[in-house]
Amino acid sequence: MSGIGKGTAVSSVGKILQSKGFKVQAVKIDPYINVDAGTMNPIEHGEIFVTDDGTECDQDVGNYERFLDENLSSDNYITTGRVYQAVIRKERNMEYKGRCVEVVPDIPNEVIYRIEKVAKKSKADFILIEIGGTVGEYQNLLFLEAARMMRLKKNQNVLFILVSYLPIPQKIGEMKTKPTQTAVRLLNEAGIQPDIILARSRLPLDEPRKRKISTFCNVQREDVISAPDVDSIYEIPLNFEKENLGQRILKKLGLKARKKNLTDWKKLVETIKKSKKQVKIGIVGKYFGSGNFTLTDSYISVIEAIKHAAWSLKRKPKIYWISAENYEGRLSSRRLKELKKYDGIIVPGGFGKRGVEGKIRAIGFCRENKLPFLGLCLGMQLATIEFARNVCGLRNANSTEFNPKTKYPVIDIIPEQKKFLREKKYGATMRLGAYRCELKTGSRSWRAYLSSNPLTKKVNLKKKYIVSERHRHRYELNNKFRKILEKKGLVFSGINPERNLVEIIETKDHPFFVGTQFHPEFKSRPLRPHPLFREFVKRCIKK
Ligand code: GLN
Repeated sequence: MSGIGKGTAVSSVGKILQSKGFKVQAVKIDPYINVDAGTMNPIEHGEIFVTDDGTECDQDVGNYERFLDENLSSDNYITTGRVYQAVIRKERNMEYKGRCVEVVPDIPNEVIYRIEKVAKKSKADFILIEIGGTVGEYQNLLFLEAARMMRLKKNQNVLFILVSYLPIPQKIGEMKTKPTQTAVRLLNEAGIQPDIILARSRLPLDEPRKRKISTFCNVQREDVISAPDVDSIYEIPLNFEKENLGQRILKKLGLKARKKNLTDWKKLVETIKKSKKQVKIGIVGKYFGSGNFTLTDSYISVIEAIKHAAWSLKRKPKIYWISAENYEGRLSSRRLKELKKYDGIIVPGGFGKRGVEGKIRAIGFCRENKLPFLGLCLGMQLATIEFARNVCGLRNANSTEFNPKTKYPVIDIIPEQKKFLREKKYGATMRLGAYRCELKTGSRSWRAYLSSNPLTKKVNLKKKYIVSERHRHRYELNNKFRKILEKKGLVFSGINPERNLVEIIETKDHPFFVGTQFHPEFKSRPLRPHPLFREFVKRCIKK
C-alpha cells in the first residue's frame, strides 16, 4: 500500500548496490492517468519534485536522487498517462505499420521500451523499477504485466522484490503475516513470484515469522528481509545490509561485488544518531491538513534539506509546522511574537491566495526582529512584497497572482505565461527545471555558496560565479521595481544572466534574510547539504 516506504526501499537497495561498485538508476512508475504530477494538489499527492530537465514528478524521484546522489530526468518517471500518450502518438504516426494496436501487448511493450531506454542511455548495471500502488488493484495490472514479460524476455536478469506491510493490531499485539501471504498470491495471479520480500513493519521480524513467510510465500528464509520502522530513513541501507540483502541480490544474478564501501553513509548515520543539541526551525505553510491528520509530505525536500544542513553542523533538527492562517485576522500580532520560540523560519513554495497575508506578516516579523529567514520561491516573492509595502512604502503592493489589479505589482506574471493561462494550458508549462544564476560578488549568498563548495580554492574569484538551480513558477520579480527596492536596501544577489531575472534577494543588517526564486531544496543531498540551507541553519544556531 502507499506510504510504507517503497521509494526509500528502492533508494536503499540502490545505495547498497552502488556501494558495491555498480552503476545504478531508478525508475518510478505511477499508475495514475496524469501525464505528470505537476497538475496535482500537494495535499493529495505530496510534494511535486522537479528534476534538472524540468520534469514535475513524484517525490520518490527525489528520494532516488538523494540516496544515489545522481541527477535524474524525465526518463526516470513513467505514468499511465505518459505511456498511453506515447502509444497513441505512435499510432497516429503509423509507427505500428497499419496493424491493430492493443492494450496487451502494446502498452506493456511501451513500458518495457521506456525502461530499456533508461538502461541504454545511462549504461547502468542495475535499473531499479518501482511499481507504485498496491498489488491486486486494477490500476497497476499493465505494469505488472510488463514486469512479467520483461522477466520472460531477459530471463535471469530480472529480479522481483515485494515490499509488504505486516500489521501489528494493537489489541492482539502480534505481527500478522496473512496480508503478505495474500499479496504474494495476488502477485502469483499476475504471473510473478517475488524473489525477495521486504517485510515492512513497526518492529523487526522474528524467526517464526520469517519462517512462516518463507513457507507460505515460497521464498527462501534468507530472502525474507526485516524492514522495521526507523528514526531516519538514511539508516535503511545499513539495516538491509545487516540482513545481507546486497549479497542475496548479487548471488541471484550471478554477480560479485566490485568493492565494498558504505563508510561515508555509516558516518552520516552515526552523526544523525549522535547529534543531540537541537536547532528549531518553523515552517510557515499551508499544505498540512487532511481531516484529522497533519501531513508533511508536501514539503519533503524542504524537510530533508533542513536535516542535511543541520546534521552537517552536528545538530538535531526539530521542525515545527505553523499554519500561515494563524497570522491573519485580529489576534495575529500577539501570535506573531510566538515566532521567537524558533531559531529560524522558512516560508516554502506555494500557489493561490490562501494563507498569503499570514505568511507576509510572519516574514515582516522575521525581518524586523532579526530572526533568520529563508524564503523559497513563493517565500521569496512574499518577502519582496513585504519589503515593498513596509520598507519602500508601496501600499498594498502585491503579486498579480493574488491581486491582478494591484497598483504596485512587484511580483508579476512572466510574459510568456499569460498565454498558457489564457488558453488553460496548465500542464508542464511553468518555468521549470534548471536555470543559471549568477551570484553577486561579496553578497551573503555568494559567500554561502563559496564556503560550501568543496572546490572553493578552484573558484576564480575574478570570474563570474554561476550556479544552476531548479525552478517551478509562473511569476517573477518585476524588473520595473528593482530600482526602488534596491535603493531601499534590498540586494539582488542572484540574477539569471540570460533573461535578467532576479533569482535571489537578501537584506543587509540582518543575520540571515534570504529568498530564492528557485527551489534549492531539490538539490540538497545527505552528504552534500545545499549551501543556502547550510548557511541558514548556521545562523539559526548562532541565534
Ligand atoms: N505561485 C508562485 C508562482 O507561480 C510561486 C510558485 C512556487 O512557490 N513554487 O510564481
